[in-house]
Amino acid sequence: MRSLFPKPWDVFVVGGGPAGLATAIAARRHGLSVMVADGAVPPIDKPCGEGLMPDGVEALRKLGITIPEGEAYPFRGIRFVSDGAKAEANFPRGSAYGIRRTNLHRLMLDHASASGVHMMWQAAVTGLHPEGALVAGELVRARWVVGADGTSSRVRGWAKLDLRFSDVSQETNLRFAFRRHYRVAPWSDFMELHWGHRCQAYVTPVGPEEVCVVLISSSQNLRLRIEDGLEEFPELCARLQDAEHASSERGAITVTRSLRRVYRGHTALVGDASGGVDAITGEGLCLTFRQAALLGDCLASGDLASYRKGHRKLIRRPALMARLMLFVAGHRHLRRRTMQVFQSRPQSFAGMLAMHVGEGSTREHVSNGLAMGWEMLRA
Ligand SMILES: Cc1cc2nc3c(=O)[nH]c(=O)nc-3n(C[C@H](O)[C@H](O)[C@H](O)COP(=O)(O)OP(=O)(O)OC[C@H]3O[C@@H](n4cnc5c(N)ncnc54)[C@H](O)[C@@H]3O)c2cc1C
Repeated sequence: MRSLFPKPWDVFVVGGGPAGLATAIAARRHGLSVMVADGAVPPIDKPCGEGLMPDGVEALRKLGITIPEGEAYPFRGIRFVSDGAKAEANFPRGSAYGIRRTNLHRLMLDHASASGVHMMWQAAVTGLHPEGALVAGELVRARWVVGADGTSSRVRGWAKLDLRFSDVSQETNLRFAFRRHYRVAPWSDFMELHWGHRCQAYVTPVGPEEVCVVLISSSQNLRLRIEDGLEEFPELCARLQDAEHASSERGAITVTRSLRRVYRGHTALVGDASGGVDAITGEGLCLTFRQAALLGDCLASGDLASYRKGHRKLIRRPALMARLMLFVAGHRHLRRRTMQVFQSRPQSFAGMLAMHVGEGSTREHVSNGLAMGWEMLRA
């Protein structure tokens, strides 16, 4: 079979989104030769809440990327809003940013190019091959193939890595999201999460005159669009009703999924392709950057068993947070009680947020959880 390049690459990455570029950068740091192929054209936009939590900012910095001023908008914590009640807390440390996906992609792309990563755009990968992968039917030879092709990964299917850990059906975990930007000055320096009965909306400040709104609903309420879902949030609706739309509404699916295996032979998965957590956590990008850094190390040492082990460990906390948040989302009475506790005992919300972004000790999290449980029983 004709090969597109004369020499095989050390690493061929399928997908040039955050996971693919981060893995390429991490592999280049070990001196591996890397080619990335993506079917789209940069800068790639993708429906996303565009919130990068402090642990995500730190994970990106470890890959050598700092966010320059003007490319993103800082926020200092998270605010929950439910049935008129509000609870908020600052991040224990570090900065968080709202960053447009196109800005993030451009920053990552510049860094990847400067690191010596080769890239092909409008280059859809059509299959795997014992010697590498196929791009539009032509062979690209590589020692390792990395599937960074997102939630609906085809590499995952080709490599027979689809088996999940939990027997919860995909339909139960699958949720629908819509995103749109509004031209309005952010009204707070928090990322806001509004809890409704049929859906949740979250608002991230992404610029001095722009916010990003995501509305997520479960499959029962099939694909609730932003205009319909916002009816549940009168306060948010009032803030947005006169604001010009700064982007068109785009939909996506979000799934909490843990795979039994994240590599087979010379093919490894990373980012959303390798499983992921519900968008409501705002932790997808951080998880992706951490997996990519680990995969870069493991590709260099040839020890993919360590990647599997480390990957499982990395997803544990965000997956737990996703399960907790979705449970609360589905139980109105419990949500009301939780909000009462957060209001009467603000340190409990601060403790939850610290756990969410990976700060504090297990002992502190357990004692905060117990104190919260006790308050809820008394409420
Ligand atoms: C609605 C929503 C809101 C979210 N909000 C947040 C948030 O606020 N904060 C956060 O941290 N995370 C958030 N996430 C999660 C975050 O968006 C993902 O974790 C992140 O995009 C994963 O990156 P990825 O590179 O794995 O996948 P993607 O970003 O999906 O990139 C996959 C790439 O692969 C390419 N591709 C696919 N198939 C092929 C092929 N056959 N050949 C070549 N290229 C291919 C695609 O073109 C794409 O560029 C959200 C997710 C959703 C759905």
